[in-house]
Amino acid sequence: MVAERLCTVCAYEMEEGPRDYNICPPCGTEFGIHDVNSSIENLQDLWLKSGPRWHSFRCGPTCEMESV
Ligand SMILES: [Zn+2]
Repeated sequence: MVAERLCTVCAYEMEEGPRDYNICPPCGTEFGIHDVNSSIENLQDLWLKSGPRWHSFRCGPTCEMESV
């Protein structure tokens, strides 16, 4: 686990890290845009309220819940 690559919203370990317009696959946060327009706290809140939804993952941490 490389701390500097962790998404500041959902703590997913991103390939490139949360910077330079990278999009975090699970939560969909686009760093450099979303985290500039909104606080991390706010983004976390929105993401959590969405389910939390996992954007690009067919099977994220919520997979077990979904398959029940
Ligand atoms: Zn994320």
